[in-house]
Amino acid sequence: MNEIRTIAVLGAGTMGNGIAHVAARSGFRVLLCDVAQNLLDRGLATIEKNLGREVTKEKLTKQQAEEARARITPVLDRESLSGCDFAIEAATERFEVKSALFQDLDRILRREVILATNTSSISITKLAAQTSRPQQVIGMHFFNPVPVMQLVEVIRGLQTSQATYDAVQALSVKMGKTPVEVNDATGFISNRVLMPLINEAIFAVMEGVATPEAVDKIFQLGMAHPMGPLTLADFIGLDVCLDIMRVLEEGTGDPKYRPCPLLVRMVDAGWKGWKSGRGFYTYS
Ligand code: NAD
Repeated sequence: MNEIRTIAVLGAGTMGNGIAHVAARSGFRVLLCDVAQNLLDRGLATIEKNLGREVTKEKLTKQQAEEARARITPVLDRESLSGCDFAIEAATERFEVKSALFQDLDRILRREVILATNTSSISITKLAAQTSRPQQVIGMHFFNPVPVMQLVEVIRGLQTSQATYDAVQALSVKMGKTPVEVNDATGFISNRVLMPLINEAIFAVMEGVATPEAVDKIFQLGMAHPMGPLTLADFIGLDVCLDIMRVLEEGTGDPKYRPCPLLVRMVDAGWKGWKSGRGFYTYS
């Protein structure tokens, strides 16, 4: 495989702008692609704000931040990604969206280029099968906020080659992250373990076992979690938690992943957590 110099990042939302930020900060050129100019503008504004914050915290010099920003080029036309050496997809979490995007990237990018996806729940194996290079498709699951969180969960699809895995592991390290290897299975490891914890905490609240504050305090003080499961659920988005529980329930066929009825009701009410101003706590 050729040396990776230029990375295509598909999607300029929460995760895509974070991935572009980290890649540019690590010296890679980045082509950041989304479907509308206002989404690119918003993604770039977030990157500039977050780079500025790193300068304030003295993690970067002003010059390093300016150089990182200058390495990112926003693009609307997917065809202009043809010269990229690596692609990371962080588009909307819907199989049809990712499947169409992967087929297009497969057509546009050189044969040897690896196509990575930041999906939280879609099968890497199934996405790989949409392309003519399934051995070069892999999961590269970053965590939010990307510039801060250390982990990349690297997920091998059934078809992923060792060379692809090795390249992604090395790239993760170059991006300042710590890769951890897992195999393709519903929810990978992170969501398969975290979401049932959150779901069970919600069952405990629904059954009147404890208040949200008490549940969170138990995990903070007793298990040294930096935030309790219900605060974390509000931060992730209760709608996102519900979607992932449904993926786990459907994907495994195991009733132990049944979403808590209180979670379903809260999402029905529009109480999605931090982003909607109300979840287990209220936010102004
Ligand atoms: P988001 O809604 O903030 O951003 C998604 C972006 O993708 C949007 O700007 C959308 O316009 C764009 N998009 C849609 N179709 C596209 C296409 N064909 N080409 C280019 N861009 C396209 O979503 P997000 O939270 O950034 O999530 C992105 C991915 O990352 C999802 O797969 C999600 O499961 C995964 N993920 C999210 C988190 C999280 O905490 N938010 C954590 C880990 C992984």
